[in-house]
Amino acid sequence: MQTRACDVAIIGGGIIGLACAWYLRAAGRDVVVLEREQPGAGASHGNCGTITPSHAPPLPEPGVLGRALKWMLQPDAPLYIPPRFDPALWAWLLRFAAHCNRADHAHATRVRAQLLNDSSAALEALIAETGIDCAFERRGLLYVFRQPTWRERFGDLPETLAPLGIRAEAWDGRRTEEEEPALRAGVSGGIWFPDDAHLRPERLVAGLARAVRAAGVELRAGAPVTDLAVRDGRIETVVTPDARWQPREVVLAIGAWSPRLARRLGFRLPIQPGKGYSMTFDRPGLAPRRALVLKESSVCVTTWPDGFRLGSTMEFSGFDSRLNPVRLAALRRAAETHLREPGAGEPQEAWSGWRPMTPDDIPVIGRPPGLQNAVVATGHGMLGMSMSAATGLLVRDILLGEAPASRLAPLAPGRFTWAAGKG
Ligand SMILES: Cc1cc2nc3c(=O)[nH]c(=O)nc-3n(C[C@H](O)[C@H](O)[C@H](O)COP(=O)(O)OP(=O)(O)OC[C@H]3O[C@@H](n4cnc5c(N)ncnc54)[C@H](O)[C@@H]3O)c2cc1C
Repeated sequence: MQTRACDVAIIGGGIIGLACAWYLRAAGRDVVVLEREQPGAGASHGNCGTITPSHAPPLPEPGVLGRALKWMLQPDAPLYIPPRFDPALWAWLLRFAAHCNRADHAHATRVRAQLLNDSSAALEALIAETGIDCAFERRGLLYVFRQPTWRERFGDLPETLAPLGIRAEAWDGRRTEEEEPALRAGVSGGIWFPDDAHLRPERLVAGLARAVRAAGVELRAGAPVTDLAVRDGRIETVVTPDARWQPREVVLAIGAWSPRLARRLGFRLPIQPGKGYSMTFDRPGLAPRRALVLKESSVCVTTWPDGFRLGSTMEFSGFDSRLNPVRLAALRRAAETHLREPGAGEPQEAWSGWRPMTPDDIPVIGRPPGLQNAVVATGHGMLGMSMSAATGLLVRDILLGEAPASRLAPLAPGRFTWAAGKG
């Protein structure tokens, strides 16, 4: 086995690892990306591809626990937690519950809004600069409500988001149906976020993988990191099947799998895999004009020139890779309820992926406690595509010693230490 010295080793070739690679390379660093399978093998492949400052409010909020409890035993609900013995998941749920209060909700909304706004602009610039063909369009996103009670629940969202620089307009049912002829009649209202965007995520990842290679990054597919050795507060060696890497800096960007390597490095990350599903179809004749979120079922609909994807659902079932037909059927049913042409026949692809979920729904970006040459970049939950560019820029700034401490504090890996040993 060869021993190789290198400048920066990024572990994980999803959208987060690749965005870090792009900006670090642009800053003149020599970068190796070590990816277990191939770039985009994880959650970054079949997700909905929406770029959404609109999603600044986090999942933990007052009242969500009551809804979650009702859904818990309903296998086709937007959130599903199959009953099983899993102490790490229970500890995670307790932490999640502790964040379901107004103060934490407002804090997380602010932190996420800044990342999302920065990232949306930076990602558009990155796509323009690299010329990646990923069907990027800034056409906005529409929340659609059929039940008036759901419309009312989100009634103050435009006012909440306005001070954070996120524009949103509430529409009544008639206006929503006029603006979006693909919707079936019976809509009670909508919220329109003009600044959101969407793209085809698997093409962004493939294009970015090509772009980083062309820029001089050594991108190694089929290179799982199986071990890491720490000495005197530094990661000294990163082991893959064919090499022992000796990097100056290590970026840990392996999404939902991050707790495994973190544990080897001596710290805990309370991240759970939040499984989501998607189905991709040929584009129907009457396709939505912009990305939609069908709010009652939490299903996202994304339309590209050559395809149409239904996605979402959140299932905490560990790393169970089976495609649950009940969950896939729930996507179809939501589309049939809301859309005149909901996607016919067999899908081009039925897929599932694991989102890296933190209990406060804020990503983890920063130096982990006790390690001088490591940076964690994970925990992006439902928003990893949306936050990718800002994360890459922050990781670059951390390595260059230029990241403002105030910006990093709410993202710090060390914020979870109160329950070290449980997570
Ligand atoms: C159904 C669904 C819909 C979604 N929709 C959206 C959306 O519309 N907008 C949005 O912003 N986000 C969305 N997301 C979330 C988004 O997909 C994730 O947040 C994002 O992909 C996470 O990126 P990542 O690079 O951290 O992880 P991943 O893409 O999972 O990448 C991690 C990589 O690490 C590799 N790896 C793991 N272990 C090792 C190891 N030991 N050694 C080397 N490599 C390793 C894996 O093979 C993988 O390629 C959605 C997710 C799902 C599931």
